[in-house]
Amino acid sequence: MSLAERDKKHLWHPLTQHKTHPDHLPMVRAKGALLFDEHDKSYIDGIASWYTCMYGHSNPEITERVKAQLDVLDQVVFSGFTHPPAVELSEKLIGILPGSMEKIFFSDNGSTAVDVAIKMSLQYFFNKNEKRNRIIALDNAFHGDTFGAMSVSGLSVYNGPFEEHLLRVDRIAVPEAGNIESVKARFQSLLDSGEIAAFIYEPLVQGAAAMHMFESEYLEELLSMARSHGVLTIADEVMTGFGKTGKMFASEYMNCQPDIICLSKSLTAGIAPMALTCCTRAVFEGFFDEQIVKGFFHGHTYSANPLACTAAIAGIDLLQSKGIQDGILRINRRHSEFEAHIAAHPKVNSTRVLGVIFALDLKTKTDRYGALRDKLYHFFMENGVFLRPLGNTIYILPPFVISDAELDKIYEVIERSLELV
Ligand SMILES: *Cc1c(COP(=O)(O)O)cnc(C)c1O
Repeated sequence: MSLAERDKKHLWHPLTQHKTHPDHLPMVRAKGALLFDEHDKSYIDGIASWYTCMYGHSNPEITERVKAQLDVLDQVVFSGFTHPPAVELSEKLIGILPGSMEKIFFSDNGSTAVDVAIKMSLQYFFNKNEKRNRIIALDNAFHGDTFGAMSVSGLSVYNGPFEEHLLRVDRIAVPEAGNIESVKARFQSLLDSGEIAAFIYEPLVQGAAAMHMFESEYLEELLSMARSHGVLTIADEVMTGFGKTGKMFASEYMNCQPDIICLSKSLTAGIAPMALTCCTRAVFEGFFDEQIVKGFFHGHTYSANPLACTAAIAGIDLLQSKGIQDGILRINRRHSEFEAHIAAHPKVNSTRVLGVIFALDLKTKTDRYGALRDKLYHFFMENGVFLRPLGNTIYILPPFVISDAELDKIYEVIERSLELV
């Protein structure tokens, strides 16, 4: 029996309707920007395996350090113990995080990082005896699939069965030039209720909303309004963090900095699942008390796994290297050149570029997981390019180490795919 047939027997894949999409392609190895299937056909990983493997797959500068750590300390409980990789990672991160982040809380994935941020905000006010139990989130947001993260996410077609169990969330439109006055008015009236604990947002790019990009200046206005009402601001940088927008963190495009930042995805360079919820001293102090119950009683078994921490340290070292920084500038320049070339194509409605992110909207309307999306996906794969179009949006978010020839191939295959539309 083939691997694909054996897969069908026992495996249940994420985000999949198995009746209409029964087949899963076996991938057996990966190197740099390439994935290889069992027949050794290669595919350019145009989305860095969901924005994780940004330094390329199996990069020896990362794997060698993780292998060395594996023989020294594999795993240890993080309540009551600490260890060198966690301490070193915290020091490195505090050095590069925007604003005045001072404390780092570990969990396992982007969704848990968001759940932790939400619980921190709610308990922060609970500890102060302030009745603030509502959260503001942006329309079309995506913050993850656990209950808290799902509650603040806006893409709700798939959340129908859970709706009555979600947290109390007030939603506002993404602030833009055309709506900023009405968004501010609504935001102000929510703040005036005095019941808002936190405002959560994906800074500048809403990844799951098909790489929707918006300007920093209007978001910044909301952040300073929230700040003046004592509302905690939570930047979900799970996707945008670690160089993808051209700056180390998307929050750096603004002056007003968040109280809490969520990180995951490329944090560990694609080696292991791990996430961080980082916060200011003021947030931490809301839990610092003689009374034990005022502490934050949230914890995951694999918190601060030493191997994941080691991968994260190696990733940050690479991100700060000239080679990777040059790669980010090069990819951004190449994307802009491709954008100038493709924007006038009759099938293309609009294009956008930020850092290493390129997105193109087709004129045709289609469902998020509809037939055209499948057709494009299969065309890309046949041509050795892995991209996951979302509805009528085709986007690229390649590893920083992708070569110019590999980028050329992605651009060329995208251009040819427009014939199918
Ligand atoms: C992917 C993502 C999440 C969820 O992360 P998981 O690791 O998939 O749970 C949350 N927020 C944003 C912005 C994301 O892109």
